[in-house]
Amino acid sequence: MNFSRVNKLITQANINNCSGFMLKDRNNIRYFSGYTGEGAAILSENGCAIITDSRYTEQAQKQAEGFEIITFESGKYLDTVKLTCDKLNIDAMCYEADVITCDEFNTLKAGLGAIGLVPTKAVGISIRKIKDASEIKIMKKAARVTDELLEMAYLLSKPGVSELDLVAELSYLTLKKYKAESAFDTIVASGDNGSMPHALPSERVFKSGDMVTLDFGAALEGYKSDMTRTFAIGEPSNKMKEIYQIVYDAQKAAQDALKPGAACKDIDAIARNYITEKGYGEYFGHGLGHGVGLDIHELPRLAPTSTEILQENMVVTVEPGIYIPGVGGVRIENTCVITKDGGKALFGASTDMVKL
Ligand code: ZN
Ligand code: ZN
Repeated sequence: MNFSRVNKLITQANINNCSGFMLKDRNNIRYFSGYTGEGAAILSENGCAIITDSRYTEQAQKQAEGFEIITFESGKYLDTVKLTCDKLNIDAMCYEADVITCDEFNTLKAGLGAIGLVPTKAVGISIRKIKDASEIKIMKKAARVTDELLEMAYLLSKPGVSELDLVAELSYLTLKKYKAESAFDTIVASGDNGSMPHALPSERVFKSGDMVTLDFGAALEGYKSDMTRTFAIGEPSNKMKEIYQIVYDAQKAAQDALKPGAACKDIDAIARNYITEKGYGEYFGHGLGHGVGLDIHELPRLAPTSTEILQENMVVTVEPGIYIPGVGGVRIENTCVITKDGGKALFGASTDMVKL
């Protein structure tokens, strides 16, 4: 059991006047217990348990070291949760109000009788903001895989290849060559499709002169990497080259400003103000970046409304973009770890414009 992680969660339960914490979010369960299957985790000073069904019993026993694995029989889930709380002397427990459904909450409340339920928001993911050495190590490894996949994407991208072809090839290589997972659904947006930041890959084929936005990443042991490169097939238009240079400069300036103690909204402003000064502010609608870890979107957010301060060992993306309907778009994204000496991109891949 990772006591340091578990104790942080129990402390949060105590702050909320609870003696236990119930987790349903799978990545929270994974982070605090090691178990990657379905079910619930209940953590308390008096012990920790995973409640699951027979499909996962053996897996949970192997993964959740130090946790009691309790298998519920069909129709007995609530009874099992209640019995577990009684056994662990839990009179009130925190639950993830931002994870469970209203229906699940109503069922729990009705089934747990006198056991109190206290809503919490983003507790697990807040604890997960600061990565430990083992997490950073695996994220660096996932980033190296992503770097290599980018090289392959460059080799594969030619006139006549479709967006979906590239998605399929990368997906296959990720699994076959690197035994990794795709961190999220790969975005490939070519030509005018590039104006949609999260375009769905289509059968559109690459043409000479296109710019192609590729937003993808590999995941290892659940830890994700998140990279975007926008590259050219042949010679792009002057307009696209101009946009590229602006996004490149904005990304670099914001990434160079990452450091412990910097306000996330100020980092966002560096890129946003620069893009605005160049006359393209209205074409950069999304936040500058986000935390990454077991989830692809974690805390902190780098956005104008963020109130968070960067701390050492946070891992965040820096991904400005300019998207012009009817013309195309450019986004450049690095995943960076915050060190005492500033932000360091986990990727080796350059952000210079690549022309294939
Ligand atoms: Zn991305
Ligand atoms: Zn991202």
